[in-house]
Amino acid sequence: MSARHEKEKGVNVQVLLRCRPFSDDELRNNAPQVVTCNEYQREVSVSQNIAGKHIDRVFTFDKVFGPNAQQKDLYEQAVVPIVKEVLEGFNCTIFAYGQTGTGKTYTMEGDCKKKGGSNGELPPGAGVIPRAVKQIFDTLESQNAEYSVKVTFLELYNEEITDLLAPEDLSRVALEEKQKKQLPLMEDGKGGVLVRGLEEEIVASAFEIFTLLERGSAKRRTAETLLNKQSSRSHSLFSITIHIKEATPEGEELIKCGKLNLVDLAGSENISRSGAREGRAREAGEINKSLLTLGRVINALVEHLGHVPYRDSKLTRLLRDSLGGRTKTCIIATVSPAVHCLEETLSTLDYAHRAK
Ligand code: ADP
Ligand code: MG
Repeated sequence: MSARHEKEKGVNVQVLLRCRPFSDDELRNNAPQVVTCNEYQREVSVSQNIAGKHIDRVFTFDKVFGPNAQQKDLYEQAVVPIVKEVLEGFNCTIFAYGQTGTGKTYTMEGDCKKKGGSNGELPPGAGVIPRAVKQIFDTLESQNAEYSVKVTFLELYNEEITDLLAPEDLSRVALEEKQKKQLPLMEDGKGGVLVRGLEEEIVASAFEIFTLLERGSAKRRTAETLLNKQSSRSHSLFSITIHIKEATPEGEELIKCGKLNLVDLAGSENISRSGAREGRAREAGEINKSLLTLGRVINALVEHLGHVPYRDSKLTRLLRDSLGGRTKTCIIATVSPAVHCLEETLSTLDYAHRAK
């Protein structure tokens, strides 16, 4: 939504589009390119000619990042202002939405195998999460105020919550036991919700985040293999809560509290196709529930509908205090440039466009 539009409607939802580069496989197979990005015009074009059938569509977004856009570019242009809001004491949410394999996890977590420079620089592949944490600490450390930073990292699979930070046994027995005891969601009496028993990790520096991310991802991978989960079907939610103690000129104490939610959504192909597969019906339905409800919630906020159906899914209940009102929401839709993804690319572009 443009700044003008934003003022008119009083809604803070930004929708960005990122198209990843061709993969090595696609390059080797000379996969035809059907997506073209015009970053300057903020436009994405999809065109394809097969057997007399001609597709030619253009979509406009708030920002467009083509295959050459670096992690740093996306972060500086799209995320820096959101993190500033969080440091002012507001709650904000950033979603990665798209087909599996289009770069949601790359965008949110990034590729941190190559370590950064010794001078505290992040590796070039670092995604939104480590960059946001670094921006938060750089800002806090330059100010003369007391603060605390806490993070939580959870996975939502089949409308059930798993703590990705809980230090524990990763054996199959332990995991199955844990599965039976899903963490319950409770109302906190202040309009938000609490996940009872969720590990909150106090972080003291940006670099501790790499260890936490690695721990969470390892747990996700292990659970995936042992419990036959499919990571493309789960949502992950990384939340950073900041408390800053400030003194007013009158010497009064003021506590600012802001929260940033970074959400790597389940693959969007789960919305359109999975419903029909038997045996997976419940799972598919439940995944649909969070993804579809999220779409409805954002639509209700953008269209100013009176009723916002937060309560209809776990994901939207979890994010209730960070969607709508005086919060900023950013959706990063991710697509592949290649022809074999065409159908899903069009459905992602449609979904993302409707959120504007
Ligand atoms: P998703 O989480 O949407 O399933 P991934 O983030 O796992 O997709 O990305 C799939 C593959 O493509 C990974 O190997 C990732 O490193 C690569 N990739 C995705 N986006 C980019 C990008 N913008 N630049 C370079 N590589 C990317
Ligand atoms: Mg992923």
